[in-house]
Amino acid sequence: NVRVRFAPSPTGPLHIGGVRTALFNYLFAKKHKGTFILRIEDTDQNRYVEGAEQYIVDALNWCNIPYDEGPEKEGGFGPYRQSERKEIYAKYAEQLIASGNAYYAFDSAETLDFHRKDHEEKGKTFIYNWHNREKLSNSISLSKEEVDKKLANGDEYVIRFKSPKDESLQLTDIIRGAITIDTNILDDKVLFKSDGMPTYHLANIVDDHLMEITHVIRGEEWLPSLALHFQLYQAFGWEAPQFAHLPLILKPTGKGKLSKRDGDKLGFPVFPLEWKDPQTEEISRGYKEDGYFPEAMINFLAFLGWNPGTEKEIFNLTELINAFELERVHKAGARFDPEKIKWFNHHYMQEQNDMALAEAFKQLKSELSTIDLEYIAMVVSMVKERATFVNDLWDLSHYFFEAPLYYDEKGSKKAFKEGTKDLLLRLVEIIQPIEDFTVENLQTHIKGWITSNSIGFGQVIMPLRLSLVGALQGPDVFDIMFLIGKTETIKRIEKTIN
Ligand code: GLU
Repeated sequence: NVRVRFAPSPTGPLHIGGVRTALFNYLFAKKHKGTFILRIEDTDQNRYVEGAEQYIVDALNWCNIPYDEGPEKEGGFGPYRQSERKEIYAKYAEQLIASGNAYYAFDSAETLDFHRKDHEEKGKTFIYNWHNREKLSNSISLSKEEVDKKLANGDEYVIRFKSPKDESLQLTDIIRGAITIDTNILDDKVLFKSDGMPTYHLANIVDDHLMEITHVIRGEEWLPSLALHFQLYQAFGWEAPQFAHLPLILKPTGKGKLSKRDGDKLGFPVFPLEWKDPQTEEISRGYKEDGYFPEAMINFLAFLGWNPGTEKEIFNLTELINAFELERVHKAGARFDPEKIKWFNHHYMQEQNDMALAEAFKQLKSELSTIDLEYIAMVVSMVKERATFVNDLWDLSHYFFEAPLYYDEKGSKKAFKEGTKDLLLRLVEIIQPIEDFTVENLQTHIKGWITSNSIGFGQVIMPLRLSLVGALQGPDVFDIMFLIGKTETIKRIEKTIN
């Protein structure tokens, strides 16, 4: 029974890298008919940001990747906020002390700073493990009595994991395969602090165990923690989940990791939803507010590090679930291409229902407030092929709602020749008597008149289009005439004659 979790820390808005991690977890869970859990890792109160947790939930909902268990969705393994699980962790830290896998250390920040600097000056790095821990007077060599006395005295402490000396750890990752780590480079990481709070490492392992997580799917930035996490499972005598570390997301240039700051610099959002920083009130753009469809975002993100092994690129969520395999995730960084997500958006724009698009369009443009939704939908169906965003629709379709305000100069030169005026006058005479103003009738009458008089088709259609649209663009002129109606058609033609 597959159980996976997305475990963000609410330290700010979820960026697209986080959404990708959530998505891969979701796809893997659904593919295996498993459970997708949201766990809020908020043990670091200093980095807690107001509104960040709600943002995470909203973002997952907007992307249509809801969690099965998590805050406000109890599934028998809660609570799902680590701050509400505080009491759980201390006994596990103590268990590691008892088994000799961890120890109390009382070093002050100043002492640690001193040693770091001292090593630096000698061109070395200070590693807090067997290299140094015995030498520190407030560390592992303290007797049980000394430790108890300090604890009773209320001295500040941390509990550190005791990294072994000269061992070689064999780790496995579904995406990266076998990884060998020399324990001599590992720090004795802090697991628990005297404020009663666990660090990320301890809380994360304990919760993954208690929540019966089977697969840990997370970003590559957590790969350096894998050795410690493996050892923690061993130390507890628990079976470790399987791990899969997703590749980095790279800047559009392919050089360097895409950062939260890049969005503003490079001109595209890096967040799913708009985010207002509670402190600075600064607003960061979001894909939703920029007019992207969640389907486009999901399809795009799925390809950041994964591919189906075929040419097919358009995948809806169900297709993604069916096709997804962790084994097909690659290790190399995935380049973020903001043009590609536009391409997906254009595709999903075509798939939207015209009424829904019309509604969004109407909301966007005050000019449309009095216009019938069905009419807007008909217009949308005619022009959306050229639109990537709802925001593009007005430029492509304004002439369905108002007469052209000006005429394209180049187009006018091309369309208006000697004799054009006469032709348009006669055209009005052809149009005037058409009672049933349908596309078919318009075609029959106008085309019939053109051919039986051996007039060039363009000689009529070009100036006609120009008078209706204001430019030599747009859908079929007969469709335009039909939609704007007879009176408006004649009015527009007559305006260009005079
Ligand atoms: N809280 C960590 C984060 O913010 C979780 C990492 C993990 O999935 O183990 O990403």
